[in-house]
Amino acid sequence: MAGSYEQLGDTRLLPATMRGRFVLGGFMTLIEDLLALFHVERRLRSLRARVDSAETYLTVQQRQMATLQTRREELETRKRQRQAHAGNLEVEAAAVVERIEKLREELNAASTSRQYNAVLNEVNNLKDKKRELEELTLIEMTAAEETGGEIASLDEQIAERRTVMDSAEAELAERKDEIKDSLAELDTERAAKVAIIPSDTQRLWDELAEDFEGEVMASIQLIDKRRREYACDTCNVHLPFDVVNKVTGRPDEFVQCQGCLRILYASEDAREALVK
Ligand SMILES: [Zn+2]
Repeated sequence: MAGSYEQLGDTRLLPATMRGRFVLGGFMTLIEDLLALFHVERRLRSLRARVDSAETYLTVQQRQMATLQTRREELETRKRQRQAHAGNLEVEAAAVVERIEKLREELNAASTSRQYNAVLNEVNNLKDKKRELEELTLIEMTAAEETGGEIASLDEQIAERRTVMDSAEAELAERKDEIKDSLAELDTERAAKVAIIPSDTQRLWDELAEDFEGEVMASIQLIDKRRREYACDTCNVHLPFDVVNKVTGRPDEFVQCQGCLRILYASEDAREALVK
């Protein structure tokens, strides 16, 4: 294609269809300029994809870490509530014990058996109450301990996750660093390629790039040479022969595929089929 013409450096060897700008000893048509930009952008995307996937991986790790931390906070709150409840029960039980001590003195001082029995009855009731409070305290303490165990095993998971997260962070930094130079080079290259494209074409290009994630161009594929059948390689829509002719015959204009709106260029075999 253009490369070989450029190398020849003799413009008389160029076919009539290759008219266009004269660049560094060769002609570049608009379609070739666009293709060059297309390829640079593709390389940029695949370069960035490595960083993007590392970034996505790190985000997943961070999200899982956040979930673990939230769960840990919930468990901590629950544990504190259980402990506080156990504390309150203990205070209540202490008050009951105090009351029992006082009643024992009354018991000793009781003058009638009726009085004695009444106080004894109250003491026995309070003993039941004390036992009940102790049981409840034990339940709360046990629950707090169990929650503590859950927190401990969660802490192990958090530590593991942190290790994974750290290595994901390191991986991302490494990948960013790896592509830094190539990225800068390609950005410069891209800027140069964009600069020679007419501004209205640039605007369309940017729109298409946004809509199709950079897949702005589609090649024309030869389906049947004898029947002159061609199709868009991206959307497979059948392309009328005059469209194909326009793409190859007027490379300083561009034609969009009617099916997928991408800018068409002729693949090698489609071009050859037309020449022969
Ligand atoms: Zn198409």
